[in-house]
Amino acid sequence: MVHSIYSNKDVFLRELISNASDALDKLRLESMIDKDLQADTDDLHIEIDADREARTLTVRDNGIGMSRDDVVALIGTIARSGTAELLQKLRESRDAGANQELIGQFGVGFYATFMVAEKVTLVTRRAGEREGTRWESTGAGTYQIETVADAPQGTSVTVHLKPEDSEDNLFDYTAEAKIREIVKRYSDFISWPIRMTVERAGEEGATTSEVQTLNSMKALWARPRDEVAEEDYRDFYRHVSHDWADPLETIHMRGEGTFEYEALLFVPSHAPFDLFMREGRRGVQLYVKRVFIMDDCEALIPNYLRFVKGVVDAHDLSLNISREILQQDRQIQVVRRRLVRKVLTTIRDLKANQEEKYRTLWTEFGRALKEGLIEDPDNRDTLFEIVSLASTHDPAEPTSLAGYVERMKDGQTEIYYATGESRTMIENSPHMEAFRAKGYEVLILTDPVDEVWVEQVGQFDGKPLRSIAKGQVDLDTEEEKKSAEAEREQRGKEFAALLTWMTGQLQESVKEVRLSSRLTTSPACVVGDAYDMTPTLEKMYRAMGQ
Ligand code: ADP
Ligand code: MG
Repeated sequence: MVHSIYSNKDVFLRELISNASDALDKLRLESMIDKDLQADTDDLHIEIDADREARTLTVRDNGIGMSRDDVVALIGTIARSGTAELLQKLRESRDAGANQELIGQFGVGFYATFMVAEKVTLVTRRAGEREGTRWESTGAGTYQIETVADAPQGTSVTVHLKPEDSEDNLFDYTAEAKIREIVKRYSDFISWPIRMTVERAGEEGATTSEVQTLNSMKALWARPRDEVAEEDYRDFYRHVSHDWADPLETIHMRGEGTFEYEALLFVPSHAPFDLFMREGRRGVQLYVKRVFIMDDCEALIPNYLRFVKGVVDAHDLSLNISREILQQDRQIQVVRRRLVRKVLTTIRDLKANQEEKYRTLWTEFGRALKEGLIEDPDNRDTLFEIVSLASTHDPAEPTSLAGYVERMKDGQTEIYYATGESRTMIENSPHMEAFRAKGYEVLILTDPVDEVWVEQVGQFDGKPLRSIAKGQVDLDTEEEKKSAEAEREQRGKEFAALLTWMTGQLQESVKEVRLSSRLTTSPACVVGDAYDMTPTLEKMYRAMGQ
């Protein structure tokens, strides 16, 4: 499986550099927090070493390194974080398109080296530890591991390139020009020097060698927007997101005044498989004045925007701030509010101006965004503008809430909705009959989160949200009511005996049997009281064992 799946193999080098950069970030941070850490932090850098004869390429860093346990856990048999779940998903999924996507994700991370390598050797020593570890694998699922005495601090990864004539090797990755090109292209913004020793022809055939730094090291988020090429943004996105696809939207912002910060955020173009898993990763990294502080900074972005990726560099924070303190920090709260507003207004603008992008976004992240209606009352109005909901109005076209309100019939005061597992189930439910017959539009809500937000939010634009499955829904005009009333009285008398008998027969299961005005074709339906749980919610609680 290692062999068939990649189009652009150059990225293996980007991935190794990205890991080296992360390792240096971690070391700097750890040594600042833990003064006793026996670590060498003098000349933190990344080094690339190519050996043309041996056909090897080595990427070395003097960063945090890995213990033997780390190597087993992180690099292990299947060589990257998340790979096990990914493989599991591949096995479970029968959808070829989705598989293609999942496979694409193998293109990121350490495992990408096996696109070009017949063997990979990793030697590492964790800062502060005495012994190092040597790991070697051909990528076929097994590896050798041993303890070594004399490893330098940090990690070196040596890629033994496949033979030259192999179809996997269209490029010579040991060539200086090729290495330069890849580093410039993908890793220019890396904030640590990436060095390489290059040979130069000197006088009279002698060669001299010199060490060169290949990257400019400019933090992308600190540069003015008009100086950053789209391509740079994309490469940076790959670095922070570990995603293989391009981002859907880029948000580059800067806050001045009391709290200075820079933020470079991205909305991905597809949802990660763990978007709805509790342990799923969140995307925003926190830096303080160019110093990496932490991944997954939950204080900066609310849960419902967990799909947003990127970097926030806040200037006036202490470097060894903890996650707990961050949650309470006033500056972080201000920054968070601004980020949220900016992300939401960006999405709103997409909806207005870039229909296509908005659709992708809503399909991928709509379910998460709807959680915002519950979590974030302050931004509810903006969220209302973003939300799209399925409706009986047009099966092919979801509607906004404002769109629904515009189409409301004369005299209609409530927004009708139905919740359920699928559109078909809802449309076939007997509750729908009267609404269909009278031409009322009904919102069709099929996500589990819908149940919760409609309850919590209660109304839109002053119009109550009303489940068609609850209580007595009154759909008639005054005249219709009068004649219906007369008819009901008449029929009430007619059926009184039957109803009493049925209520008696069914008293174990229902509160009351009554004549219905809401059915047109079904003979009977079960309705809830106005304050009862909706059927889906009831099911949900039952499933939870309550
Ligand atoms: P990711 O970078 O997305 O976590 P990778 O497959 O690139 O996935 O790397 C897996 C893990 O291996 C990293 O998260 C890191 O913990 C560890 N690792 C990889 N390379 C290095 C390195 N050069 N130094 C220290 N740890 C590393
Ligand atoms: Mg990586």
